[in-house]
Amino acid sequence: MLLFWFRRDLRLHDNAGLYHALETGKQVLPIFIFDTEILDKLSNRRDARVDFIYQSITNLKKQLEKEGSTLLVRYGKPTEVIKELLLEYEVEGIYTNRDYEPYARERDEEVKALLKEPSLDFIRFKDSVIFERSEILSLSGTPYKVYTPYKKTWKKAFKEKMAAPFPSEQHHDKLLSHHKTPLPTLQQMGFEPADIPTPDPNLAEEVLHRYEDTRNLPALDATTRLSPHLRFGTVSVREAVLLALQHSDTWLQELIWREFFMQLLFHFPTSAQESFAPKFRHIAWRNNEENFQRWCEGKTGFPLVDAGMRELNSTGFMHNRVRMVVASFLVKDLLIDWRWGEAYFAEKLLDYEQASNVGNWQWAAGTGADAQPYFRIFNPDNQVKKFDKAHTYIRRWVPEFGTSAYPEPMVVHSMARDRAIAAYKKAIALAAG
Ligand SMILES: Cc1cc2nc3c(=O)[nH]c(=O)nc-3n(C[C@H](O)[C@H](O)[C@H](O)COP(=O)(O)OP(=O)(O)OC[C@H]3O[C@@H](n4cnc5c(N)ncnc54)[C@H](O)[C@@H]3O)c2cc1C
Repeated sequence: MLLFWFRRDLRLHDNAGLYHALETGKQVLPIFIFDTEILDKLSNRRDARVDFIYQSITNLKKQLEKEGSTLLVRYGKPTEVIKELLLEYEVEGIYTNRDYEPYARERDEEVKALLKEPSLDFIRFKDSVIFERSEILSLSGTPYKVYTPYKKTWKKAFKEKMAAPFPSEQHHDKLLSHHKTPLPTLQQMGFEPADIPTPDPNLAEEVLHRYEDTRNLPALDATTRLSPHLRFGTVSVREAVLLALQHSDTWLQELIWREFFMQLLFHFPTSAQESFAPKFRHIAWRNNEENFQRWCEGKTGFPLVDAGMRELNSTGFMHNRVRMVVASFLVKDLLIDWRWGEAYFAEKLLDYEQASNVGNWQWAAGTGADAQPYFRIFNPDNQVKKFDKAHTYIRRWVPEFGTSAYPEPMVVHSMARDRAIAAYKKAIALAAG
């Protein structure tokens, strides 16, 4: 009997690892582990991501029980849980899908070591991306650090070998027959239902057709909201890419950014902690706590920044254009370390994904592999004129905008801009010795 371990692939259809497990012809018992190593670090006990995972797991379990099988759901440290399962069941091996984040890779190495002694298989598959690890390399065989040539090679490789789906849903007869099993409650794991729902993605044709023209306008509901679903695998990336091919190349390019950042973090795991470009590792950040607090609360006096932060705080989402503006404002105008902003986003975003978050923060900070040049600094007022001219988005999130209750700008942008450029220049000079 094989165990199939669900992690960030919470669906029964087009699931590569599940498909391969079922294809062996052996009986397959699906499991899910609420990982205490991750959950213990979350300070918000109403975390919307935990709630979303919980609901997705409940659905999966119901579907599997309809098929006469079950989903074994445990709460604990994965290696400990797996040890218990090896004692409870006659396990011949564990199948799962790959997760590329540094923590997940370490965890999987521990599991592999644990299974070595009883000589059990631990087989991992590519599922959450079209191309992984070193599948897309430059001509010299090194990982790409710049997006545009990465994208070209990605597209060429995709043309040569389209990503066929894995029809796991057609092999459910191989699921192990099992009585229903208990599901730990959220409360037993120390959590409560969240106030913030995770919306379904909107992949309607008209959204994708209009995407190129409207994707930068935060007042419109013009993007797909697919990100948390790709994060947790409730939608298959292969389905998403097929839709992109049919309807929008611009949208496809966004999906490729996601894979670009994933391979970057895979090849350069320390970029989660330090600036990718060595010359920017010693910027003299101001790191003013009070300034940071005002940014977090959306009280900077810059209406697009404030609208974005308030949207994030109340919904767990922020429009991509506005994410770029708030990130630039924090790092350049307030000279606060990008890692502070990255950590705040990590706590709040429903779609938080380490590779995309770190990659985009470093892009905005100008410290990344393929980043915005350090001296190109968004002017928050111009961004309003370009992308929210009628103040529709701003008024939605900042109702007091335009009244005396709205704060004055907390810095003078032109001064802050010069200050940032000087700080970056100094860091470059320092690095050059
Ligand atoms: C500072 C900052 C931090 C970010 N942090 C995250 C994060 O933690 N998790 C995350 O998924 N995205 C992150 N993004 C990228 C982007 O903002 C979101 O993916 C997007 O807003 C999600 O909305 P959507 O699904 O409607 O996107 P759509 O516009 O419909 O795009 C479709 C999909 O493409 C991918 N995508 C789009 N833009 C990007 C991008 N710039 N980088 C990587 N993938 C992209 C996402 O998977 C997204 O769901 C961040 C961007 C910035 C500027």
